[in-house]
Amino acid sequence: MTKITFAVIAAAAMLFASCTKAPTTNFSFESSDLFFEIADSLSQNQKVAEETWARLFDTKGYKTLCDDDEMNDVRRAAELVFAPNKKAELDSILKAPYDSDDDVDLKMKILVRNYVNLQSHFDDAKKFRTSYDFGKVKTAATKIVHDFLPSPVDSLLTFPNIEFFCYARDASNCGSCIIFDFNYFYLYPQGCIESMAHEMFHNYRYNFTNDDIIYSEPLLIVLDHLQDEGIADLINKKSSESAAKKLTELEYPELYEQKYLKALNNSSELLAELESLTFQNLDGELSDDDYKKQIYNLFPFKGHPVAYKITQLFIKHGLRDQMMETFDNPLEFIKLYNSIAESEGLYVFSDRFVSHIEQLFTKPQPAE
Ligand SMILES: [Zn+2]
Repeated sequence: MTKITFAVIAAAAMLFASCTKAPTTNFSFESSDLFFEIADSLSQNQKVAEETWARLFDTKGYKTLCDDDEMNDVRRAAELVFAPNKKAELDSILKAPYDSDDDVDLKMKILVRNYVNLQSHFDDAKKFRTSYDFGKVKTAATKIVHDFLPSPVDSLLTFPNIEFFCYARDASNCGSCIIFDFNYFYLYPQGCIESMAHEMFHNYRYNFTNDDIIYSEPLLIVLDHLQDEGIADLINKKSSESAAKKLTELEYPELYEQKYLKALNNSSELLAELESLTFQNLDGELSDDDYKKQIYNLFPFKGHPVAYKITQLFIKHGLRDQMMETFDNPLEFIKLYNSIAESEGLYVFSDRFVSHIEQLFTKPQPAE
C-alpha cells in the first residue's frame, strides 16, 4: 500500500486535530519538569528570568501545541496561581462566570482552574513524578489494545512517544507523539493509559487504510474519521453519558457537557445533513470549498459523540466482528450503519449516497 505524503496527511489530520503515526517508545518530562521548577520559584516569590520562560516554551510539549497567545496564557496563569502576591487577581478570575461559549478568556480560565488543582497537591504530584512506574504504562496500554483487536495482532502495533507538560486537563496527538497534561495523568492514570491505548489503535489502523483514496475526497476523510474515532472510543469510554459527564469532571464549563449531549441527540439529523450537503455539492448547488468547510465542521467534538454512538449500536446488535473485520473501510462502516439505522430510528443513508461512496472508492487513481 502506498502512502501519500506526510504533509497531506498532516493537513487533513489537523482539520480534526486527529491522530497519526507515532513509531517509537518514550516518555519525556522535559516540559513538565521545567514547569515545576518555575512554579517552585514563583511560589517562593522569586523572579523567573525571561530566558527560563523562553526555555519552557521551547520544550516540545509547548512548542508543538501552543501558539504565542496560548504561551502567554500559560505564563499568566502560572504567575496568578503560584505567585502568592497575585491572589486577589486570581480570586477575581475564579469568581467570574465560567459558562460563556464565546468567552475569549475561556481557555485561560480552564488553564487557571487546572493549575489551581495542581497546586492543591503540588508536592504529591512531584513525588508521583519520581515514584510512579511509567514503565508499566506501556505494558498496560499494549495489553488493552491487544485484547481489543481481533487476534493475531502483528508487529505494526507500537507504543507512541509520550510528552508531559502542564496545560489544560487533556491529551493531544501531535503526529509524532501524544502530549499529556501532567496533572491529568496524575489525577487519572488508568484513564490516561486507556487514552494511550485509544491512540495506539489509531496508529495501528493507519497501517491498513487506503489513504491515497481517502485523503483525496473530503467526504471519505469525514467518514474515515467517524469510523476511526467511533471504534477507538470503544476502548476508553464506558458510555456516551459518562463521556459527556467526564468533561465536567475535568472542570471544563458545564456548557461542554450539554453540547456533547446535544450532538449525541442530534446524531440522526447530523448524518442526514452530511448526505444533504453531499447531494447539494454533487448537484452543483454548493461549491467544493463550501462543501468541504461545512462537512469538516458538521460534527461537534471532532465527531466523537456521533461516531461513538454508532459503534455502541454495532455492539448492541452483535456486529462487533463485522465492525472489526472492516475496521479500515469507511464504506463498510456506512453499510453496517445502514443495516441497523432504521431499527434504531436513525437516518438511513439513501442508495444514491452509498453508491456515491462506492464510486469514490473505485474511481481511477492518478498513476504513480
Ligand atoms: Zn482518537
